[in-house]
Amino acid sequence: MENVLLIRYGEIHLKGLNRPYFERVLLERIKNALRALNASIKREQGRIYAFGIDPANNEYAIGMLKRVFGIHSVSPALSVSKDWDTICACAKKLTLDAIETHGIKTFKVFARRADKCFPINSTEICKELGHVLLTEFGPTHGLSVDITKPELALTIEIRENAYIYTEEIPCAGGMPTGTAGRGALLLSGGIDSPVAGYMLAKRGLELSAIHFYSYPYTSVRARDKVIELARILSTHAGQIRLHLVPFTDIQLAIYDNCPPKETTVIMRRLMMKIAERIAINDKAKVLITGEALAQVASQTLESLCVTNDAVQIPVFRPLIGFDKEEITKIARKIDTFETSILPYEDCCTVFVPQHPVTRPSVSDIRQSESRVDFTDMIEKAINDTELIIVS
Ligand code: ATP
Ligand code: MG
Repeated sequence: MENVLLIRYGEIHLKGLNRPYFERVLLERIKNALRALNASIKREQGRIYAFGIDPANNEYAIGMLKRVFGIHSVSPALSVSKDWDTICACAKKLTLDAIETHGIKTFKVFARRADKCFPINSTEICKELGHVLLTEFGPTHGLSVDITKPELALTIEIRENAYIYTEEIPCAGGMPTGTAGRGALLLSGGIDSPVAGYMLAKRGLELSAIHFYSYPYTSVRARDKVIELARILSTHAGQIRLHLVPFTDIQLAIYDNCPPKETTVIMRRLMMKIAERIAINDKAKVLITGEALAQVASQTLESLCVTNDAVQIPVFRPLIGFDKEEITKIARKIDTFETSILPYEDCCTVFVPQHPVTRPSVSDIRQSESRVDFTDMIEKAINDTELIIVS
C-alpha cells in the first residue's frame, strides 16, 4: 500500500497531436512545484502521479499543486495491487478513517475500470465493495448507503494499479504556463491588472510585466507595492520579468502641453507605445491590461479605441466584461487584494484631470499629442527602464 497524489488534467485532453508537448510542460511545472518534497512524478495514461510524499506533507503539496495551471483536480489516494482482498482491506481502512475523523454515517462506492482485463466490471465492484463495507461498519458504526448525497464518496480506479480515494480537490484548471507564449502585462498598483495577468497566465501565457512610475510624484512605497504584487502573481504564473519605467518627464510634458481633459487618454497612449517596445524586446506577442468597459473615463468604448490606435500589437483585456465586484472576488482568491488596496498613489491617479473626455476621437487626440515630440523622451524612458526578475 503506497500513498500517492493522483493528479488530473483537464483541457489538455482536447489537444490532438500537440498533446505530448502540453503534457511534458505540465509535468515539468509539477516537478518544480513539488521540488522541496523529493517526490517522484510519473505520467501514465492521461494521469500524473506523485509518489513518495509523506502524507503529513499532503496539505503543502496540494497547496502547491493548486497553483499549477493545467491541473484540474488532485486526489490523495492509496495505490495497491489489483488483488480483490487487498482492495477491500484498503477500502475498509479509508472508510474507518472517515468515520473516525469526520463522523460520516453514509457512503457510496464509485468505480472506474480503465484496465478491462480486471475480471470484475465497475458496476459489480460498486455492489460487492458496498456490501463489504456495509457488513463491516453497518452494525458497529451505523454506516448506511446513500446513493444521492453520500457523506463519503469512496472511489476505486483500476489501472496499472488500483487507486482508492475519498476526496477530489478542485485545482486552478487552465493550461500550463508558457504553452501559449508570452504576454506583457501593464501592471499598476490597483486591483484589476494583477487579476488580468492571472487570467491570461492561467490560459498558458508566460508574463512580462511593465510598470510606469513618476518619482517624486509617486513614492518608493508605491514601487515596492508593485514588486510585491508581481511576486504574488509569480506564485501562480511562474517567473515574471518586471520592467520599471520612469515616466515623470513624459507625464509632465503631457501636462504642460496638452488640453487638460485629454491628458489621461494621451498618457495611456504613451504607456501603450512604450509597453509595445518593451514587449517586442521581451518576445511578448501581446499586451495585457486590466481595463473593463466603462469602469472609468479612460475605459469607455471610444477611449479604448483611441488607446488601441497607439499600437500595432494586439491588446488583450481579459476583464473587459467584468464588474468590479467580480474582479475583486478573484483578487481575493489569488491573494493580491490586500496588497492592491494599500493606499499608495499610482502615476495614473497623480495627474488626473477634473473633467476627462469620455468620448475622445482618434483624430483629435492624435492632433493634441502631436504638440509634443515624444521621440527622445520615449527612448530615454526605455533606456532608463530597470528590469527585475521576480520569482
Ligand atoms: P484599479 O482600477 O483597481 O485602480 P487598475 O490597475 O485597473 O486599478 P486603472 O487606472 O483602471 O488601474 O488603469 C487601467 C489599466 O491600465 C490597468 O489595469 C493597467 O493595466 C494599466 N495601468 C494603469 N496604471 C499603470 C501603471 N502605472 N503602470 C502600468 N500599467 C498601468
Ligand atoms: Mg481599473
